[in-house]
Amino acid sequence: MTEQNILMTDPTITLTANIVAVKKRISLAATSVGRKATDIRLIAVTKTFSIGHVEAAISAGLIDLGENKIQEALHKQAIAKQQAYWHFIGHLQSNKARKAIAFDWVHSLNSVELLRRLNSAAADSGRLINLLIQADISGESTKHGASKPEIYRILDYARECQFAKIKGLMTIPPWSENPEKTRPYFRALRELRDELRSNEPDVVQLDHLSMGMSHDLEVAVEEGATMVRIGTAIFGRRTTKSK
Ligand SMILES: *Cc1c(COP(=O)(O)O)cnc(C)c1O
Repeated sequence: MTEQNILMTDPTITLTANIVAVKKRISLAATSVGRKATDIRLIAVTKTFSIGHVEAAISAGLIDLGENKIQEALHKQAIAKQQAYWHFIGHLQSNKARKAIAFDWVHSLNSVELLRRLNSAAADSGRLINLLIQADISGESTKHGASKPEIYRILDYARECQFAKIKGLMTIPPWSENPEKTRPYFRALRELRDELRSNEPDVVQLDHLSMGMSHDLEVAVEEGATMVRIGTAIFGRRTTKSK
């Protein structure tokens, strides 16, 4: 029996064990650098997994869920919207900004235009939306992150935004088998956060760093992650391609 099959037979058993293991990894990494595990938010990435998995995750006590496609997420939210905080972690085109308002957090803010649209959509629906600026640390424009000058423009425009609130930074480093290879990118994100904080102290509180996935969460936590985005280590390998 494959892991997927076990999951289908009784999702909660495998899930519970996986969640315990992931929390343990977070906690060991946090302790090793004198941080508190409770300062790190575990975002369970449910992309490509079924509504059954979403319900099982919620029953297992997970309250932060991450998705990278609007349509797929809206479908799942129809069942479980009120029971979790929903995080959008995929690339967001400006013309889809209105739909992204269904999320509590968007991790992929990368332009002033997108911020303008998110703020206006949030204003129209009378609710706040939490945003993280996706930073291009590696110079890989394929990952859709914002350059440093664009980040400064975003923070400048954020002064005018009543409904869209910038809470921190996010990054996706280039893939590497060896988690140590991602350390410089995570460190650079933290240093960028510190720089922005000291240069733009009045604008925003950049409390959050969203970084780290299943295979490199320890390194991310050691470098200051406050949110880790974990799919595979909780739900098993994705059988459908999600990109
Ligand atoms: C899929 C995805 C994740 C989760 O990756 P895993 O390796 O399965 O933990 C995290 N962040 C983003 C942006 C993703 O698209």
